[in-house]
Amino acid sequence: MPIKNAEEYLKTLTEDRDISIEGERVKDVANDPRFAGAARTMADLLEMQSDPELIDTMTYTSPTTGDKVGMTHIQPRSREDVVARNDAIKVWMDASCGMMGRSPDYKNCIISSYAEAKEVFKRDAFDGSENIQNFYEHVRENDLVTTHVLVNPQVDRSKPAHLETSEIVAQIVKETDAGIVIRGARMVATLCAMANELLVMPAAVTWATDETRDTTDFSFGFAIPTSTPGLKFICRPPAAQTNAPSLMDHPLSLQYDESDGMVIFDDVLVPWERVFIHRDPDFDLKVNPASYVGHSMLMQSVVRAHSKSEFMMALAFAIARSTKIDQHNPVQVKLAEMISMTEFVRSCRITAEADAHETEFGSWVGGMRALQCWQTFFWQMYNRQCEIITTLGAGGLVAVPSFAEVAGELKGDVEKYFQVANADSPRRIKLMRLAYDSALSSFAGRQRLYEQYYTGDPMRTQAALFNGYDKDSHIERVWTMLDDLEKRDYQPT
Ligand SMILES: Cc1cc2nc3c(=O)[nH]c(=O)nc-3n(C[C@H](O)[C@H](O)[C@H](O)COP(=O)(O)OP(=O)(O)OC[C@H]3O[C@@H](n4cnc5c(N)ncnc54)[C@H](O)[C@@H]3O)c2cc1C
Repeated sequence: MPIKNAEEYLKTLTEDRDISIEGERVKDVANDPRFAGAARTMADLLEMQSDPELIDTMTYTSPTTGDKVGMTHIQPRSREDVVARNDAIKVWMDASCGMMGRSPDYKNCIISSYAEAKEVFKRDAFDGSENIQNFYEHVRENDLVTTHVLVNPQVDRSKPAHLETSEIVAQIVKETDAGIVIRGARMVATLCAMANELLVMPAAVTWATDETRDTTDFSFGFAIPTSTPGLKFICRPPAAQTNAPSLMDHPLSLQYDESDGMVIFDDVLVPWERVFIHRDPDFDLKVNPASYVGHSMLMQSVVRAHSKSEFMMALAFAIARSTKIDQHNPVQVKLAEMISMTEFVRSCRITAEADAHETEFGSWVGGMRALQCWQTFFWQMYNRQCEIITTLGAGGLVAVPSFAEVAGELKGDVEKYFQVANADSPRRIKLMRLAYDSALSSFAGRQRLYEQYYTGDPMRTQAALFNGYDKDSHIERVWTMLDDLEKRDYQPT
């Protein structure tokens, strides 16, 4: 079955999965107010692929079935393919203000990268190459929504997370003819309540260390349906105020709170055909760089961040115009900062596309330098974008009431006292509630945390950038310059 429509996707969320939130097990995610908004958004994104006006951007022809499948599953064979995939991602991201970090494109790009590099999965310890290819095709041909969980729980970080060993950490406890049995926990699974499949792989970036574990029980990579027996997700409380009188009160959180959760493996049987890495700790640390998965993951991230930055910039413009503060020079300086941050992210996309290159697997990936540059700065820029929104919105962010007041008993007062120079009261209230949800709410706080950590701890990713960068030629240039100067015939006056 090729691209899914909204209803087909929502139906998958009624499968028997073990999703808990606020002490309750949720059977019907799509109709539970704590998840319904984001589930609907996911469904709408999938539906967009069938829109006659978007279908050429959002889909391509499956190489195995000839059906229309999602463009975000494509394995790029040229720079044009990289750009085409980015264009499709941008359509989804513009529709969700870049706030759905785990819209399906994120994992689709990652899984297609792993499959493209399937040769890497051929190891003495285990040959997972055919399994990763089959999984990729399964996800692509059924348009499945996947999430992933890479990190061990924060039990004792005196050791790097990938070396942590305890009863709590997910590990192999048994092997049978049918597969491996996993017990323990992993964190964090964003989108877990709305995903069809869970990919479990080694962490993308780890602290450099020569230490290895004294057991291979913690070394594995696999994917299983989220309805697999024994698999449990315990979700954080919702960021959205689910009993709000109006969608306009929490316009982002009621649509885009994609959920995060801890994953518990309660003796989960992973069939051999779904195992990609098995008892191969050396491979744990090598698989991600060797598969170019970081390139694909960061490329998707840059496109998403571009949409998000455009949205935050637009919001800042609208706030400033509504009360005419954009006439003041210091405000213009802040708006110029918003423009520059947005253009920085756009430039990272363009540069990564221009630097796109072919890999040894025949696939094409974006240029890593621009992508890492984005990774270093964007989470900090995003904090600044939120700070500018709150600085411009100031007291107005907390002075406006619920949008329900527009039709409430005090309608007359509300119409009169909440209007501003360039917006009537309903528009002013809507705008300020959007600004609040973007920069100040619980949802906004979670977005900031997400930007900081979802591609890995910046401390580690930035150390990796430093360690992988060619420094010698730059250092040599400084010594050469000094040596040349020293040789000059210099006479003090
Ligand atoms: C909103 C959100 C969504 C996420 N979604 C996902 C997801 O879907 N899938 C997934 O797999 N992961 C997800 N993550 C987890 C993410 O990958 C991790 O948060 C990230 O890798 C950092 O690891 P940690 O949280 O365990 O922090 P820790 O490793 O516990 O680090 C905590 C702090 O201690 C510092 N620290 C730790 N060890 C050292 C050391 N040796 N030396 C110096 N400083 C150290 C770190 O720099 C950091 O500041 C998500 C995280 C967030 C916040």
